[in-house]
Order: sequence, then structure tokens, then C-alpha cells
Amino acid sequence: MKIHEYQARQLLADAGVPVPSGQMVQSVDEAFAAAKKIFDGGAKLVVIKAQVHAGGRGKAGFVKLIKSAEEVRAAAEFMLTNRMVSPQTGPEGLDVKRLLVAEAVDIAHEYYLAITVDRAHNTSTLIASAEGGVEIEAVAAKTPEAIHKVAMHPIRGLEPYQARALAFKLGFTGKQVNQAVNVMLRLARLFLDSDASLAEINPLVLTPPDEAHPDGQVMAIDAKFNFDDNALFRRKSIASMFDPAEENPAELRAKEHGLSYVALDGNIGCLVNGAGLAMSTMDIIKLHGGEPANFLDVGGSATEEAVTEAFRIILFDEKVQGVLVNIFGGIVQCDNIARAIINAAKEVGFQVPLVVRLEGTNVGEARRLLEEAKADIPTMIAAGDFTDAAKKVCAAVAVPA
Ligand code: GDP
Ligand code: MN
Repeated sequence: MKIHEYQARQLLADAGVPVPSGQMVQSVDEAFAAAKKIFDGGAKLVVIKAQVHAGGRGKAGFVKLIKSAEEVRAAAEFMLTNRMVSPQTGPEGLDVKRLLVAEAVDIAHEYYLAITVDRAHNTSTLIASAEGGVEIEAVAAKTPEAIHKVAMHPIRGLEPYQARALAFKLGFTGKQVNQAVNVMLRLARLFLDSDASLAEINPLVLTPPDEAHPDGQVMAIDAKFNFDDNALFRRKSIASMFDPAEENPAELRAKEHGLSYVALDGNIGCLVNGAGLAMSTMDIIKLHGGEPANFLDVGGSATEEAVTEAFRIILFDEKVQGVLVNIFGGIVQCDNIARAIINAAKEVGFQVPLVVRLEGTNVGEARRLLEEAKADIPTMIAAGDFTDAAKKVCAAVAVPA
């Protein structure tokens, strides 16, 4: 599960990481009021930032620095009425519904700091660079030696000596060292305590020296967190941060019915049981020149109702020009699938070709049911084996040569 930056900043602040104060808003008027409050408190610079589950906002024009409350209106208006397109969003971009209005800071230097699950080392790894900011991917590609990695002990977490060594490597000096160490240790604690799979601060900044902080201040000004979905049951406060508006509506509907669904770009809707079979079904469709419209695993315990919902989701997708049902009935019973096909035919109707390949538990009963219903499902095409099914559906959607 992903969360918004404003929520991530709150988690960091609660964990004791210095973060400039800010407020989430949902309209131009609210943005103006929030900015005015920050300026009235003595701030000279305010930053307004689109809250979407994707990065690259700065370069896309969705992070703006503002010197007066009046300027906030135009920026907020722009962000709330334009879709944000960045290398992380795909060409269609994302709708922006929330903004963060925060006190901006002067920046002397930008660093990168993150913790992620490191499967190669069977542990979590802290990743840091003195070349943080908006080009971290380019830094990793061109100068990998500028990226430092520290493996964390699975139980003890990040050790203070590791954090100190890293702070020196990053070039922190004087009072900055302890500030940076503090951020690293608190981020590591938060990562473990929240069952995060990614905790990223980019940029972590050093502010220029001032009277109160002669060595400058180390602060987080952008943050991104992902959490392990399987641990959300024991992290209620994290789970409550879920924002359904950021999810693909079809994927959300599928999730509510216990279906594992991922929308794709092709035109062949797939209904399959088991993740492995779903992936090989996508492969064989591609092998025969087709493009899957989705990955869909109805799971082992799928009920007739859940499978009917799966058909609703597939058929709701306007790109779908053909459907392939590929079921190996182990725990799933083929007759339940057949009934779901019949329900879906009655309720939604198959306007597009429907290729059905069923094998396994209760397949005899399933074939009998479908045979009986044949007149109601004129676009249905029975398939023998896997290859036959793939060839038939690809032919039915007339894949361009
Ligand atoms: P991202 O592009 O989605 O990662 O958004 P960020 O929040 O990381 O902002 C992008 C860039 O905008 C940062 O790397 C900074 O250079 C700049 N920026 C963001 N917030 C501030 C701020 O408070 N002060 C200043 N001076 N620059 C900022
Ligand atoms: Mn960033």
C-alpha cells in the first residue's frame, strides 16, 4: 500500500525526523488560507505540491515555490485542473485531488536516503547518496559509486556506528553528523515498526547556516512510503491512510471480491485461476500474437459470485474485444465457473467472442451446463487444450499481422 507525501511527512514528524510544517488541502481557497497562515507566521517562502502516488512532480511543474499567498491561487488552480504527467505516471497522467501547502526551506545541499527490502541480501538495506534530488535514477545509472548501501541487521536494525560511518561518507561535518545519524536511526526504526517495504526521503536537505543553527539543519522535505499489504491487519493506523481515489477503480473492485486483478493495455480479457496459470496464459496469448487486457487470478476458493464479478470487471473494460477463460479446476470447481459464465451472459451479455477452456474438477457437469446454455451465449467458442484456446481467442479478436 502506498500513501501520500503529506501522510509520510506526518509519520516522519511523529518519529522525530525534522520536517517543515504543512497542511493538506483540497481546494484553491483552502490552499490560499493555508499559505496565508504560513506567511503570517513569518515564513518567506511556501511550497505547494500535488499529492499523488507518483514522483517526478518537480520536473512536471507540480511542485512550486511561492513568495506570497496571492501566488498560491494560480498554482493550486493549475494543479487541481491539470493531470500530472511524469515518467512515473504513464502518458495519461494522474488526476490531482489533494495538495500539500508547506513552509519551504532554503537548501544548501540535497541528499538521498531510503530503506528498502533487499531480497538479494535477505534483509533491509539503507541506501544513501550525497547526490540526491530529482535525478537520483540518473545518478544510480551513471555513477553507481555515488550510491552507498548499508545492510541492516534483521532484528537489531540499523546500528548507530553504521549510521555514523555513513554520515561521514555523505560529507556531513560538525553538528550535521549527529542530525543525519538521528534521521537515519529514526527512519530505520519507523521502517521496521510500520512494516514498510520502502521508506524514502528524497531530498533530505541541509539548510544554509543561520544564527540558531551555525552548521545548518538536516531535514526531510519529500517522503515516499510503501507498506507490506500482508501486515496491514496489525498496522491499523497505517491502513487507515489508504486513499481509494489513487487506485485503479477496476483493481479496487476486484480486491473487494478477493480477486487478484491487474489492468493491462491489450484487448484480450483473461479469466484464470492461479497466478502461475494466469502468467502462462498471458505468455501464450502473446506467443500467438495477442495482447492481454488484464491479469486476473480468481484464486483457489473463488465462489460463483466472485467469478461473476470478475466477468463484470472484464466486460466493463471497453478495450476488451475477446475473452479467454482458462481454468484448471483443482480446488476451483469447473461447474461454478460455468454457472458464473451463464450468470454473466444473462446479466451483462457477451458481445465479444468468449473462448472457454475448462479442465479438472467437475468438468463434465460444467460442459453439460454450458452445452445447455449455448443458445444464450452465441459468441462462446469451446477450446480443447491451452494452445487451441490461445489460437482461437487471438483469431477471434483479429490480431493485426
Ligand atoms: P518530486 O519531484 O516529486 O520528487 O518532488 P520533491 O518534493 O522532491 O521536489 C522536487 C524538487 O523541488 C526538490 O528536489 C527541490 O529541489 C525542490 N523543492 C521542493 N521543496 C522545496 C523547498 O522547500 N525549498 C526549496 N528551495 N526547494 C524545494
Ligand atoms: Mn522527491
